[in-house]
Amino acid sequence: MKQPSQVQAEFVKSAATPNDFPRDGLPEVAIVGRSNVGKSSLLNRLAGIKRLAAVSKTPGRTQLVNFFKMEKRWYLVDLPGYGFAKVPDSVKRRWETLVTSYLFERPALRLVILLVDARHAPMALDLEVRDLLERSGLALAVVATKSDKLSRSALARNRRELTAAFSEPLNRPFITFSAVTGEGRKELWNVIETHVRAAT
Ligand code: GDP
Repeated sequence: MKQPSQVQAEFVKSAATPNDFPRDGLPEVAIVGRSNVGKSSLLNRLAGIKRLAAVSKTPGRTQLVNFFKMEKRWYLVDLPGYGFAKVPDSVKRRWETLVTSYLFERPALRLVILLVDARHAPMALDLEVRDLLERSGLALAVVATKSDKLSRSALARNRRELTAAFSEPLNRPFITFSAVTGEGRKELWNVIETHVRAAT
C-alpha cells in the first residue's frame, strides 16, 4: 500500500457549528485527543508537512473543527483538543456540543483516531471520551503518542494497560507512534487508507 513521504494536503476550513462543515460528502477521518497529547506533531508527521499543524495552532482555531483535504479524496478532520487546565465550564460545554454534533451526525465520518499519551496510564478524561466515541458506534483506532520518550520496557508495560482500556475489548487498532522517529506512521496510514477505501 502507498505510504508517500509527503501527502498532498490542503487546509479547507475551520468550522464553529455544523452549518460550516463541508458538504461534498468525501469520506472523513477525525483525530481527537487531550491538548498537548501531540496531535499537531502527529498531523505534521502523517502528512509530511508542517503547514497543517500551523493552522491547528492558530489562535482562535484551537476550539474549532479544522478540515484538511487530503489527496483530493478525503478529509482529515482535526477536532479541538480537550482537557485544558482551568477552562471555564462554558468552554467545556461548547467543546462537547460541537464535538458531539460532529461525531453523531456525520454520515461521511468513517474513522475516529483517539490519541493518548504513551507515557501515562489511562486517564479519566480519555476514558470519558472513549465512552462518548463508543456511544457514537463509529470505527475507532487508538494511537499512543510520544513513544520515543519511553524505554522499550516502560512502553511495553504501558501498552498493556492502554490496550486493555482502549482497544482490546473490541479489538480496535492500537498503534504506538512517535512524531520524532516516525514510528507508527506507516501502520496508521494503512488503517486510515483501509477506512477511506472502504468508503469510496
Ligand atoms: P497538541 O497540543 O496535541 O497539538 O500537541 P503538540 O503536537 O503541540 O505537542 C505537545 C508537545 O509534545 C510539544 O512540545 C511537542 O514537541 C511534543 N511532542 C509531540 N509529539 C511528540 C513525539 O512523538 N515525541 C516527542 N519526544 N515529543 C513530542
